[in-house]
Amino acid sequence: MIIKPPSIPPQVLLLESILRRIATSHPKRQTLEETHGKRYWGFRGEQSLQYYLDFLLPRQPRIFYALRLPCNNHRFQIDLLVIFPQVAFLIEVKHWAGMLKIEPGSHVIQLLEDKKNVYSCPLDQANHQAFQLRQWLKTNGFSLPIDSLVVLSNQKVSIENPRDLPSKITRPPKLLNYLQTSLKKYENLSQIKLEQNQLRDLSIRLMDDHQDEIAPPLDYYGLSKYDIADGVVCPSCGSLPMIRLNRQWHCNSCRMACKEAHVQALKDYVLLFGRYATNKQIRDFLLIDRYLAKRLMQKMNCQSTGIKKGVKYDLMSL
Ligand SMILES: [Zn+2]
Repeated sequence: MIIKPPSIPPQVLLLESILRRIATSHPKRQTLEETHGKRYWGFRGEQSLQYYLDFLLPRQPRIFYALRLPCNNHRFQIDLLVIFPQVAFLIEVKHWAGMLKIEPGSHVIQLLEDKKNVYSCPLDQANHQAFQLRQWLKTNGFSLPIDSLVVLSNQKVSIENPRDLPSKITRPPKLLNYLQTSLKKYENLSQIKLEQNQLRDLSIRLMDDHQDEIAPPLDYYGLSKYDIADGVVCPSCGSLPMIRLNRQWHCNSCRMACKEAHVQALKDYVLLFGRYATNKQIRDFLLIDRYLAKRLMQKMNCQSTGIKKGVKYDLMSL
């Protein structure tokens, strides 16, 4: 069963909000688009592995995507954790494109669009995460073997030296075979077999200790609020700002009209500037007057604190 399903990382959502509102000629736009692409396709790569894991569902594994657990005063992230009574599979997912030359235990050279990138060995990374997970299990009173591996999730990636590839660096179609073979080995050899109630307790502990990734603030990307355009974005053509007329938002570019376009704009506000906003901040961002800002907030049942000009709305529930 999937205990923690894949979800779009907050950093991807933040980058989408920025890209909706930053000038097409902005000097940072291309870098932001590339960062967004890498993170978004990384997430889609993880998500795509579920197709293969579905074949194991009759064996009732506990599946967790993107767990972030504490270890030694910091957090480490596990892309995919699949737990059976005898073993936990820790899977590091890399959605690399282009041509790869993999030197296990050393590094990976990627050739992509005439550029050469060098990365550290992903299996070393997975093994280090396994070390941290082992510590976490011990601290929390559990004992379970961990099998760490790497999946290259991009179906289009080419490997220059496929024969040198260890079985623990695999491609999606071979993932199921790896898991089934390994699982059989652990079932035969392992002294450990967690009972159903222990698996349930472990799942609860993992979810209790998990903390969602927090998207970085705007200045992480070298941006300030002056780089971000105000206004409601047209859901059809992406232009902004839409104009409010007769209880509807109207787009001057494509003539589309709709009632709820401000909801996405307020979601952008939360990602860009935080969950609380005063009436003035809302009307400056949506480019509307104070009465409409108040009416929209009341209609959306947003919780508020403070009185008169100090009223702050909590936009998190949108
Ligand atoms: Zn439009």
